[in-house]
Amino acid sequence: MNRKRIGIIGSTGSIGKSTIEVLKNLKKNNFDVEVVFLSANTNITLLAEQVKELSPRCVYIENPGKANEFKNNYDFKNLKVITGFENLLELVRSDDYDMLLAAVVGFYGLAPIEEAIKSGKQIAVANKEPLVVAGKIINSLLKEFNSTLLPIDSEHSAILQCLSGEERNEINKIILTASGGPFRNKSIQEIENSSLEDALNHPNWSMGDKITIDSATMMNKGLEVIEAKWLFDIDVEKIDVIIHPQSIIHSMVEFTDGSIKAQLGIPDMKIPIQYAITYPERIASDYSRVDFTRYSNLTFEKPDLIKFECLRLAFDAIKGGGTYPVVLNASNEIAVELYLKGKIKFLQISKIIKFMLDKHNSIDDFEMEHIYEIDRNTRKEILEKQSWNL
Ligand code: MN
Repeated sequence: MNRKRIGIIGSTGSIGKSTIEVLKNLKKNNFDVEVVFLSANTNITLLAEQVKELSPRCVYIENPGKANEFKNNYDFKNLKVITGFENLLELVRSDDYDMLLAAVVGFYGLAPIEEAIKSGKQIAVANKEPLVVAGKIINSLLKEFNSTLLPIDSEHSAILQCLSGEERNEINKIILTASGGPFRNKSIQEIENSSLEDALNHPNWSMGDKITIDSATMMNKGLEVIEAKWLFDIDVEKIDVIIHPQSIIHSMVEFTDGSIKAQLGIPDMKIPIQYAITYPERIASDYSRVDFTRYSNLTFEKPDLIKFECLRLAFDAIKGGGTYPVVLNASNEIAVELYLKGKIKFLQISKIIKFMLDKHNSIDDFEMEHIYEIDRNTRKEILEKQSWNL
């Protein structure tokens, strides 16, 4: 019987909840996973249910008020409840687990992932932003500390599966598929007049707010291009994006002989989450299967880089290299936050990112501290501006 000890950061989010479903399936199939710790931001009600079910030794609650509320409302035997970011880092450095499952959103996940790598843990990562801003440094840390990082993102899981048994120098290109999001068939005028509700209405995937807006702008695919570059150590010129509205093909790899491998499945994050946890093994499941008679029409389109300016900006940022991706990510995170709060219009998201990228002086030879400094300054500058006339 297999046994793996994992810690989940972001257990109450969309990926976290699916992960807990996966753990139930693994248990049924004799793949034993012990959950050592969980973390949440504010959703202590769900966290308490998860504690009941999984009996972790520790929970980290980001919001200090909620941490107190949790301590007052619940009395779990042998459960340590902690708050304060330094204590989270201490927790991920601890010796008594094997794999960190990073299911948090945004730049926030960078420090815990870094600390987990430095303490020799395996990482299963759904959190794409740390790779976007620090892929180069993360890769050298993985080497130095003899650790591995496995993707949970469905496209990258697909690529990992396509590359199984293949030689890296025989890859011709990686073809990332994209659903095109809710605005695929809308004109710029219609997007201009769209509501927040329209933007949050993803056709195929049910996800958290940030990534759903990223899908509507197609920044999500841009971040995934950068993520793929670092995960698979491949030139960005060899990464193509194609719109595939049905989201059945999760991505493909074309090899030098002209052969193409694809990984297919129902759009259900449980499959890539499980693959990352059990890699390189496959464990049985009863997750939904593709009924090809229902999908007689798998279609493909070229992405419109004028309509989806964010995707073009992501390509520009990674081709520009250096610290451009740090600015891309920070300005995107803040612009999406402003959009979700109703403070800017949808099309201003890409305008703000472009404005910040244009004025950035990129550092080619950068260290982790530059990343933090540039991230902080970019956020501050956007937030301090009273109004945007873009
Ligand atoms: Mn994805």
